Amino acid sequence: MVVKINFSLEIHIDHDKCIGCGTCERICPLELYYLKDKKAYLVENYRDNCFICHACSVSCPVGAIVVEEDVR
Ligand code: SF4
Ligand code: SF4
Repeated sequence: MVVKINFSLEIHIDHDKCIGCGTCERICPLELYYLKDKKAYLVENYRDNCFICHACSVSCPVGAIVVEEDVR
């Protein structure tokens, strides 16, 4: 039997909160973040690589990162 799991992933970065500390860039094991003009961004194909460890969201000192996963 094959069990197929569909899931969607969205990571939101609130740039009004982001202070450009670089923690997410340093902590993501897959290097999916980068900083530009003191704000954090995700690489374009982050959904293909992110394994939803939540290290980024729990480590952001200002709570600017929300990882939204939806498993169906
Ligand atoms: S959840 Fe983990 S793998 Fe995904 S972007 Fe955050 S730190 Fe990187
Ligand atoms: S950890 Fe949070 S505050 Fe620091 S650069 Fe990343 S999103 Fe911005």
